[in-house]
Amino acid sequence: MTEIEDLLREDLRGKTPYGAPQLDVPVQLNTNENAYAIPDDVAAVIEQYLSRQVRSLNRYPDRDAVALREDLAAYLGQGLTVDHVWAANGSNELLQQLLQAFGGSGRTVLGFMPSYSMHPLLARGTGTAFVDAGREADYTLSPAFVRDAITEHDPDVVFLVSPNNPTGTALGADVIDAAYEAARGIVVIDEAYAEFARDPRSTALNRLEGRPRLVVTRTMSKAFAFAGARVGYLAADPELIEKLLLVRLPYHLSSLTQAAARGALACAAQLQAEVDELKHQRDRIVKNLRAKGLPVADSDANFVLLGGLADAAAVWRAVLEEGVLIRDVGLPGRLRITAGTEEETTALLDAFDTVMGRRPELFCANLWFASFTEKEQ
Ligand SMILES: *Cc1c(COP(=O)(O)O)cnc(C)c1O
Repeated sequence: MTEIEDLLREDLRGKTPYGAPQLDVPVQLNTNENAYAIPDDVAAVIEQYLSRQVRSLNRYPDRDAVALREDLAAYLGQGLTVDHVWAANGSNELLQQLLQAFGGSGRTVLGFMPSYSMHPLLARGTGTAFVDAGREADYTLSPAFVRDAITEHDPDVVFLVSPNNPTGTALGADVIDAAYEAARGIVVIDEAYAEFARDPRSTALNRLEGRPRLVVTRTMSKAFAFAGARVGYLAADPELIEKLLLVRLPYHLSSLTQAAARGALACAAQLQAEVDELKHQRDRIVKNLRAKGLPVADSDANFVLLGGLADAAAVWRAVLEEGVLIRDVGLPGRLRITAGTEEETTALLDAFDTVMGRRPELFCANLWFASFTEKEQ
């Protein structure tokens, strides 16, 4: 046992892998998955796309996934073409490729935590030093804050998340522009939740023109209800994308994955209707929890961050006892809740009613004065 540990890279010794709990609970609102299964008519289209590939599985897939990238470029619009788009097995693989190409040993990636917990792990796996610049006291990011952090640390890669996970709020274009202008390296905007934004124009896609070091990553895991298929994509300058080919595995995206993704993209409008319903349920959670006196951050994602908890871990357990699994992201006094279907959201709000009624001591004494303002991210 110790022998293997001794053989392991020094920087990986004693570390633990990523692991959100996968518990079997009736209402699972903990990993920001899309609450809706793929509808039957969309499933039928995807099955057709898949079945066309089965007999040629003896062949390697299109290494460059050209047809899929064309479909993704058409979906994104903004005048983007196949050369501006790249795809992989989840946006996690893209972030890894970006660090393999532009980070690595002796290089630095700058992040602003609390944010996506995978970013430090991807840095570790690629031997890139991860520097956490933190956030302002209310978890927001201003242009000046981001500019100062980049100037101080001079990173090779910058990770910004918009809308941010776990706080939920999108960044303004002023923050993205400030980051780009201050950085000499690659600036990555992780837009996993872009389709859920209250203002769809808040995407950094419209900042790409004339900014060859800017990268916008997206995923089909959330808006397309496709987490199980593992499809992520990015938009960037064609020259930057060519560099990613240096580190990608040959044939990294299976022909089944490419076909399934194209089938789902052909049904983007139907799937967007479910995104709209989830946004509605998200807003319902925000409104209802605020009405109970709980401070909740504005959300542009399919989840909300709730504060005002005297004992977040105990609230998490008490809500779980009511059959609803939410997420303790390790922030004091706060919990993250994914928006569910209408029924799941009702179960969640009922669970909070029950827990607040039975165990008021788990919540801050004077909720209306809890230090969590509406503008908080
Ligand atoms: C869920 C999520 C992703 C998605 O990763 P995939 O590998 O595409 O499933 C990426 N970034 C953030 C911030 C997320 O919350």
